[in-house]
Amino acid sequence: MREAELLTTKDFVDKYELMAKKALGQNFLLDANITDKIMRLSLAAQNIADFSHETAVEIGPGPGGLTQAVLRQNPKELTVVEMDERCLKILEEIKNFYPQLNIISGDALKYDWQKKYETCGRFHIISNLPYNISVVLLTGWLKQIDCFKSLTLMFQKEVGDRILAVPGTKDYGRISVISQLQCEVKKLFDLPPTCFVPAPKIWSSVLLFLPKEKSIEPAILEKVEKLTAMAFGQRRKMIRQSLKTVPNLQQHLDELGIEATLRAENLTPEDYLHIAERLV
Ligand code: SAM
Repeated sequence: MREAELLTTKDFVDKYELMAKKALGQNFLLDANITDKIMRLSLAAQNIADFSHETAVEIGPGPGGLTQAVLRQNPKELTVVEMDERCLKILEEIKNFYPQLNIISGDALKYDWQKKYETCGRFHIISNLPYNISVVLLTGWLKQIDCFKSLTLMFQKEVGDRILAVPGTKDYGRISVISQLQCEVKKLFDLPPTCFVPAPKIWSSVLLFLPKEKSIEPAILEKVEKLTAMAFGQRRKMIRQSLKTVPNLQQHLDELGIEATLRAENLTPEDYLHIAERLV
């Protein structure tokens, strides 16, 4: 039966005695001020007032704190994909107040993003990501970036730093190159451990990914992935060594004006792209 008022996330957690499971990467956001701040800053950075007429997908809604914040932005549809069946009753209660909530019980790693795009057009992703699969999910999304309008994602701060890292720094690596080639990435804000229940040991960061107007062709992106795997796999070596199996390497580097004595971390994302373009 529909209750008179939608419960707060903390009240839902108490009502259903939901204890966080470490194996599912569960660190819950129970404070609506924080979940609303995520949405407010994300929408402002996208220059949109709210999610009216927009479709969104949330991974791992858990007890639904961020879900309620997304729904307050009035999306046309919000699909949530949650693996923990204990959360379904809470999500059903939220749906009583927001019929545009579409609940999927399952593994986000198996979700068909392309199919969603074919039925709804480009959509937004929002998630306080389960930390153990955050990079796998992001890598998959970056490969099909044309499906998305934006991705608003919470990572462990250390992962966020790697995504945003610039050439010449120790954090710069494969995920920085691929993220920055496919998207404009902005940090919205950092959160201390105390914002979560239970509190993790480390800080977190919310990043906004805005897909670039022209995405990289899949065949070229695959080459970028191979090149960066080779180069960063031996990041202390000069690229003439780490990339030595690339056909006609020296000729490509000469024509592109890239020194063969540089190391993986000294090449910009565009340098990797330009080499890759010559290999397909
Ligand atoms: N969104 C909630 C919040 O902000 O309070 C929970 C975030 S918690 C960091 C991550 C959520 O992802 C958990 O609810 C967890 O059960 C869920 N999860 C973990 N692995 C998943 C998977 N493979 N597919 C779908 N959900 C998953």
